[in-house]
Amino acid sequence: MTETLPDSMLARLVALGWALLERARQHRDATLEVLEHEVLGCVRAAQGGLLEEVVERSTTSLGLAQRRVRQACPGCGRRAKMRDWRGRTVRTVCGPLRLERPWYHCAGCGQGWSPADATLGLAPRARLSVGLQRWVSEVGLETVFRQGSRHLAELSGQAVSPESIRRHSQRQGAALAAASEAAGVRVLATREAAEPVDPAPGQLLVETDGVQVHFHRGWGEVKLGLVGGYVDGELVAPSYVATRAPVEAFGPRLLAEAARRGALDPALRRPGLAARRRAATTVAWSLLRPDSHRPVIASFQDAL
Ligand SMILES: [Zn+2]
Repeated sequence: MTETLPDSMLARLVALGWALLERARQHRDATLEVLEHEVLGCVRAAQGGLLEEVVERSTTSLGLAQRRVRQACPGCGRRAKMRDWRGRTVRTVCGPLRLERPWYHCAGCGQGWSPADATLGLAPRARLSVGLQRWVSEVGLETVFRQGSRHLAELSGQAVSPESIRRHSQRQGAALAAASEAAGVRVLATREAAEPVDPAPGQLLVETDGVQVHFHRGWGEVKLGLVGGYVDGELVAPSYVATRAPVEAFGPRLLAEAARRGALDPALRRPGLAARRRAATTVAWSLLRPDSHRPVIASFQDAL
């Protein structure tokens, strides 16, 4: 007896095949850079649907026969009938997962629950799968090259040695530093933004301070600049400059960033440039808090 693929799963796989064929036709004689991006996009777009197919077939409580089975209430143990179907969307490492799963309600204690959620290990109201939560936590941590290599292999399946990551990061850091320095020189010379202006909303806020950071060779001062909009007492759309360079080099870089955010653009007619200076710890924590801007520091690691 030959087993055949379920129609819905086959349809998704066939759709992926057609999407790939279409990309090949659209991008005839394109570079590998274009093609790898297109294929990755197609595969990633299909991943969530394929996960749905697998979850549907792997999870017993989503099966037809199970829908008539009474389930024991997780609160009081009383057995309850299925009440209705409820949708739930969870973001996963494969993309969004949309579930329609049986919902139970206990007449005894009033608790509502879904056995499928329990089986899948989905916490109530969680919007991210456990797997995606883990990824987010990983990339939010300060990344050194050895860890970066491991993270990349885990997240993407691509094996890149720590040494390759180090070289790449140093090149990127050097390029960032050079571009930032050049922008600073140009702004000083022209009194205009060196890059396309991305105006900060509301009043322009510029803050700067220094923070002591422990490097391999000991403590050193990192100068930090924050540029952002100030609307109704809130900082919005912030961007940052950070460097270990002396203040003479830092100043032009911060100016270049402020100019990029609209500080020197007369057409924006700002109420004024608000320049404030906070205690070092305030700015340091705003950048180093693991839930907000720590990756910014990591990306500047090699530029410092
Ligand atoms: Zn109950």
